[in-house]
Amino acid sequence: MSNATRYTGLIDRYRDRLPVSATTRAISLGEGNTPLIKLENIPALIGKDVEIYVKYEGLNPTGSFKDRGMTMAVTKAVEDGSKAIICASTGNTSAAAAAYAARAGIKAFVLIPEGKIAMGKMAQAMMYGAITLQIRGNFDAGMQLVKEVADQAPVTIVNSINPYRLQGQKTAAFEVVEALGRAPDFHCLPVGNAGNITAHWMGYTEHAVDPLHYASNRAVYDPSTDAFSGMAAVQSRPKMVGYQAAGSAPFLRGGPVADPETLATAIRIGNPQSWKHAHAVMKESGGWFDELQDQEILEAQRMLAMYEGIFCEPASAASLGGAMRDIKAGKIPEGSVVVCTLTGNGLKDPDTAIQQCSDAVMLGIDATLEQVKAGILSNMD
Ligand SMILES: *Cc1c(COP(=O)(O)O)cnc(C)c1O
Repeated sequence: MSNATRYTGLIDRYRDRLPVSATTRAISLGEGNTPLIKLENIPALIGKDVEIYVKYEGLNPTGSFKDRGMTMAVTKAVEDGSKAIICASTGNTSAAAAAYAARAGIKAFVLIPEGKIAMGKMAQAMMYGAITLQIRGNFDAGMQLVKEVADQAPVTIVNSINPYRLQGQKTAAFEVVEALGRAPDFHCLPVGNAGNITAHWMGYTEHAVDPLHYASNRAVYDPSTDAFSGMAAVQSRPKMVGYQAAGSAPFLRGGPVADPETLATAIRIGNPQSWKHAHAVMKESGGWFDELQDQEILEAQRMLAMYEGIFCEPASAASLGGAMRDIKAGKIPEGSVVVCTLTGNGLKDPDTAIQQCSDAVMLGIDATLEQVKAGILSNMD
């Protein structure tokens, strides 16, 4: 028997809780198993006694949570004999699709809105060898075209309307419960198509309603309490809170938004594909939707980087920005355990980052000891 412990991705990790068989060949890049980082400085800065954790999904192989869904979608596409996948994307789905298709040795076609995708994401689609179709139109138009063409060409859709995507993405909730030993009180996410908030709810629910299954895998009997450790805790589920960018907030407007606009391009979506699911999530969990101005999103992004050393992309910061506002307002009460998903890595969008850091300290100096020393001493306060 080998006692090697190399992590080989979420399908291997949760095979018995995913729609795969013991012999399904997993197309994996080691996605999942991302850190749940406790914020140490921000709670004090907002003056509230709360525990805030961020689930740093930007540390997935292509830099976003989309990898969790894509490992499942591509694994099943390959198992079913598909030779090509297709998606519409604001950038991260195309990066993930391109990478997993490369891994599997199949083709990826990606439809992206021309000029509205962050530079890092563009680089990824090109580098992984996807065939990129830049459309003169937005994500919603691309999504519609993908649905139509899939009936007429031999391609498997890997957008979140592919049910395997949400299956893979639900594992993030498993990881949160395992890391905390309980479900959080609130789980905050940025919302675009609302697939991810739906997937998280599925994950929390499976933990909560299927305790025997959970016990057979994870829980340990504790004689001192005559109970399975964690079992009481996993009976509970968090309130799910979804934040949208104000210029792309169909859930706040009560219907599709024709011309969504936001700097947070990953959530620049006017016609969410998981509309009904997301409403059910809100009703069942007792959570809510809210919206943030782009400026608020960028402030949260920068605060997280400057005070915690964590760099996420703009869309991701909507979760923390919204949570901070709701904590300050008391809507999320003191004493709560809050998890915010940081959906994507800050390196995806260097342009937006550099533009908002015009006040960053950057000195041009001569290559002399004197000037380096002066640069240090004048900035020591
Ligand atoms: C895809 C994406 C989202 C939105 O997720 P949905 O499932 O569409 O709601 C948010 N942030 C980032 C970085 C994304 O890539």
